[in-house]
Amino acid sequence: RHASILFLCHPDQCRFSCSLSLSESINTATMRDMTTARILDGKALASRMRESLTAEVAELTEKHGRAPGLAVILVGSDPASQVYVRNKKSGCEKMGIASFSDDLPADTTQQHLLGLISELNADPKVDGILVQLPVPEHINPDSLIEAIDPGKDVDGFHPYNVGRLAARKPALRSCTPFGCMKLLQETGMDLHGKECVVVGASNIVGRPMALELLLAGATVTVAHKFTQDLRSHVERADVVVAAAGKQGLIKGEWIKPGATVIDVGIHRLADNSLTGDVEFEAAAERAAWITPVPGGVGPMTITMLLANTVEAFKAHLGD
Ligand code: NAD
Repeated sequence: RHASILFLCHPDQCRFSCSLSLSESINTATMRDMTTARILDGKALASRMRESLTAEVAELTEKHGRAPGLAVILVGSDPASQVYVRNKKSGCEKMGIASFSDDLPADTTQQHLLGLISELNADPKVDGILVQLPVPEHINPDSLIEAIDPGKDVDGFHPYNVGRLAARKPALRSCTPFGCMKLLQETGMDLHGKECVVVGASNIVGRPMALELLLAGATVTVAHKFTQDLRSHVERADVVVAAAGKQGLIKGEWIKPGATVIDVGIHRLADNSLTGDVEFEAAAERAAWITPVPGGVGPMTITMLLANTVEAFKAHLGD
């Protein structure tokens, strides 16, 4: 069993820290059925991407005499949102991107927010604007997103940017699905004609994910809360993207042997650890590739936000 795990593990990713080399591993394809999936390591990919983006930001800053700028609007004091915003600002700082933050009280009015977005749209130092979601109940998030200049919509949520993706001319792309595509690229798989099942149809994950996969030539099924017999869809998928926000919804035994599994779900357990929408251990017994939670899609989302900010900066400066 140890040998079968080694067979599919990348030498520096083997979770059992094997000291054997690949040449000492088993050589029979029949063991393939007994293998554990290779881990799609989002943390490692994010770190490589951030390193190269940091070098690019330094070069662009020198060339244009200013750094890319990201404005982050936070309304209220939701603890999870505060953590996300802190991580985004710290990501900017490490990469040499200037971050401008507006931390506003929960009773901030819609009108005030629209005025602020209008100022940021006109500010030449600001290349990207994001409103941390969710916003308090009295605020309409869609009207805020639609007020952002699409060229500064680094979350990729504006209908213009979603429409560009749908029309096969992507501009700024939604960060989580874009990060999932980068992870899929790591497998070296050609997505043309592959059966891809996206579980979840939200505006920020499931729908743009389906559009990304369609753009890559896959045959795409989108499952959602009204889907009947979810299992039958997942069972025939070459690629499963789980984004329903339901812990353990995707059973390991549903995974087609050799499939690739991308788990977008994030759930905090009582012991403070994190888990996803997929039964990880059981799915890993059948999949060829699988993202862990944490350390899979999560680190890619912020990285793609920073990458989008650099893209927006370059577009603004005609670089
Ligand atoms: P959402 O609640 O807006 O949407 C969930 C979608 O899942 C809906 O379309 C719903 O119809 C569908 N759904 C619900 N139950 C289902 C079921 N039983 N079968 C099939 N479909 C079902 O959630 P969201 O904002 O899209 O986020 C989904 C998950 O992804 C959450 O756990 C969220 O925390 C996580 N998330 C992670 C990242 C990341 O960077 N890793 C980013 C965004 C969201």
